[in-house]
Amino acid sequence: MTTTSATPLRGQMMDMPLMISSLLVHAARHAGDTEIVSKRVEGDIHRYTYRAAERRARQLAQALARLGCHAGDRVGTLAWNGYRHFEIYYGTSGSGLVCHTINPRLFPEQIAWIANDAEDRVLCFDLNFLPLVEKLAPQLASVQHYVLMTDRAHMPASTTLPGLLCYEELVEAEDGEYAWPSFDENTASSICYTSGTTGNPKGAVYSHRSTVLHSYGLAMPDAMGVGARDVILPVVPMFHVNAWGVPYAAPMIGAKLVFPGPHLDGKSLHELLEAERVTFSAGVPTVWLGLITYAKQQGLQFSTLRRTVIGGSACPPAMMKTLEQDFGIEVIHAWGMTEMSPLGTLARLKAKHAGLDAEAQHRILEKQGKAIYGVDMAIVDDDGQELPWDGRASGNLVVRGPWVIQSYFRREDSPLMTLGGQAWFPTGDVAAIDEDGYMQITDRSKDVIKSGGEWISSIDLENIAMAHPAVHEAAAIACHHPKWDERPLLVVVRKPGASLTAAELLAFFDGRIAKWQIPDDVAFVDEIPHTATGKIQKLKLREQFKGHRLPTAG
Ligand code: ADP
Repeated sequence: MTTTSATPLRGQMMDMPLMISSLLVHAARHAGDTEIVSKRVEGDIHRYTYRAAERRARQLAQALARLGCHAGDRVGTLAWNGYRHFEIYYGTSGSGLVCHTINPRLFPEQIAWIANDAEDRVLCFDLNFLPLVEKLAPQLASVQHYVLMTDRAHMPASTTLPGLLCYEELVEAEDGEYAWPSFDENTASSICYTSGTTGNPKGAVYSHRSTVLHSYGLAMPDAMGVGARDVILPVVPMFHVNAWGVPYAAPMIGAKLVFPGPHLDGKSLHELLEAERVTFSAGVPTVWLGLITYAKQQGLQFSTLRRTVIGGSACPPAMMKTLEQDFGIEVIHAWGMTEMSPLGTLARLKAKHAGLDAEAQHRILEKQGKAIYGVDMAIVDDDGQELPWDGRASGNLVVRGPWVIQSYFRREDSPLMTLGGQAWFPTGDVAAIDEDGYMQITDRSKDVIKSGGEWISSIDLENIAMAHPAVHEAAAIACHHPKWDERPLLVVVRKPGASLTAAELLAFFDGRIAKWQIPDDVAFVDEIPHTATGKIQKLKLREQFKGHRLPTAG
């Protein structure tokens, strides 16, 4: 005879909330002597261990409490990738405060707006941002304490900032006798604002739970696939989307971390990658552009770097090939966004692809990739109807998962939509998904070029242009056309010393894309504008070329 019970049987496992502090505690206990190496703003190299970092994070938690911070208070940062920033990540979140990283490359008015919106109580910043913060301070309504992330020797002789505090003095004054508290895993841990290309920036509020789950997701073999034998240098900034989660995942897996500080030019990066024997890195395409150019000019190789994640913008296939064939570095193309902590998809092969030739494999790896567990995705048409996964139908990409936002900080309106009875977050990207679940971004919905009712992918055009040996960087934008409404204009920066005409470049498109999608014109420029996160500023380019008359306009 079977019995049925009215209440379901409960699992009998320990009920331990997923705490960010546990990541660092784990590293201190199980990878205690593993190093964190930082190239400091001050110019020298600092090195210590996870054990030391965890202790200093505890001292920082004590110091912030002594300054009067209470659970939920926001601590703002304007800082590069470095060990003090890392300590702030853990000292704040670990003690129930909220780490609010601010992108220092934004316009000063935007920085002030963001700090005020988040109501930052403390603002910690690197030495080279002192003039910026002095200028901003009169507008910062909520900030009670300014903390300069340096030691006593580097403190300025005079400053307009009221009661400017020295980070090292604050930390060193504490004894570290502090036990990390345990609390609800859904508590806010950090905030990052979207770049806000239109309208004011919006805050994505991450939680302890979402951050720890995202770290597991990041480390999986078919995601970044990193482990204790890796040396990781995140070029992606800790001031935007938590450096893609690397500062949380590295202690989880016990990998050595290398922080480049503000030294992001090709030469400095190459030297640091070599000196610290870095095996794994992550960054946006523009950073790699700089590094490749430098390495080629100097005839250099990378002796330990074997893999890198590239995302944030579409990685041009030509860049993937250069890194792989000329430098032996495997590229993992990834897609995500601030609202997704940020990881969504990564391009890795499946077992069934083993028999494909190299070109066919490459075509898969050039896509934005397949969803990692923790993220589900779908494409929908403008009426919200789901579209098939056939690699051709392209529509609005929507996502859901435990590390995807459900609302923005202090915004009443919900950004979500309903599909199949479930809530999904519309990403604002237009994409196709193939039968195997590989997603390919056509465009951001606002960047797609609409020619006579048909869509032309700006990314496709840029990828082709970037494959031309004389092209350094390319951006495709919509340009007004009297007959077709919009037609593509290609804006190009030539490689130093290279000669290339518009006709030569347009001829290069022949046979590589449908004839009607070939750009109508090429404009050569010295520089293409980038956003604070290293993406091409399409909005600015569109403004710049608003009056541009296409030769096809009649
Ligand atoms: P922002 O702060 O500019 O909103 P995010 O850093 O959140 O930016 O960027 C997210 C957006 O960047 C995505 O919605 C997508 O448009 C673009 N993006 C990210 N990765 C890729 C990629 N691999 N290929 C194409 N576009 C990408």
